Amino acid sequence: MLILGLCNLASHNNSSSLLFNHQMYFFKTPYLLKAIYPSLIWNIPTKDKVIYLTFDDGPTPGITEKVLELLKQHDAKATFFCLGKNVVAHPDIFQAIVSSGHHVGNHSQNHLNGWKNADEDYFADVKLCSETIKSSLFRPPYGRIKFSQARFLKNQYKIIMWEVLSGDFDKFISKENCLKNVLKLTSPGSIVVFHDSLKASEKLFYALPIILKEFTKNGFRFETIPY
Ligand SMILES: [Zn+2]
Repeated sequence: MLILGLCNLASHNNSSSLLFNHQMYFFKTPYLLKAIYPSLIWNIPTKDKVIYLTFDDGPTPGITEKVLELLKQHDAKATFFCLGKNVVAHPDIFQAIVSSGHHVGNHSQNHLNGWKNADEDYFADVKLCSETIKSSLFRPPYGRIKFSQARFLKNQYKIIMWEVLSGDFDKFISKENCLKNVLKLTSPGSIVVFHDSLKASEKLFYALPIILKEFTKNGFRFETIPY
């Protein structure tokens, strides 16, 4: 029925070893999963040194503005998968994202879990979000979406998954490991997930400046998802 979850299911794919952590999710999406769900977008195939940073669950006051500032310092562009309810609460921050030249995507109005909600309720929540966030991009909350939901939504949206999970939402991993995940697993065309949320902020603000600096130094640039 489904996919992998942002907050469950999977493993730490660490070169030859497959280390499962307590919550069991993949830091790097395995080839097999991409092959099973070819209609979803996991990365942007390219040989160019381009990375697609994404930030989920905002806008969040005090967090999103700092992310925007960091991106600006490195001339980096990114894609923000915002929650409709947060955009309604903080329209000025949402506007700042858009006017800074970043891309925005629909992450639903209320962060519904696709596995636990009937299709019609799920679709209604996505539609409600689309009234405030005009975008052709959708990312399912928790990465959990049923086949039936993906089949329907892909007619209206590019469904954007990811290749690299920073794990910034995970209280059981250290900020150093969060950074290491991204430095080690990101390659040209990778879509990388962070969260501009309070919960993720400690790891986010430890890892993001170093990631921006290191990859820039190595000739990479950061762009919006090109759809
Ligand atoms: Zn989310």
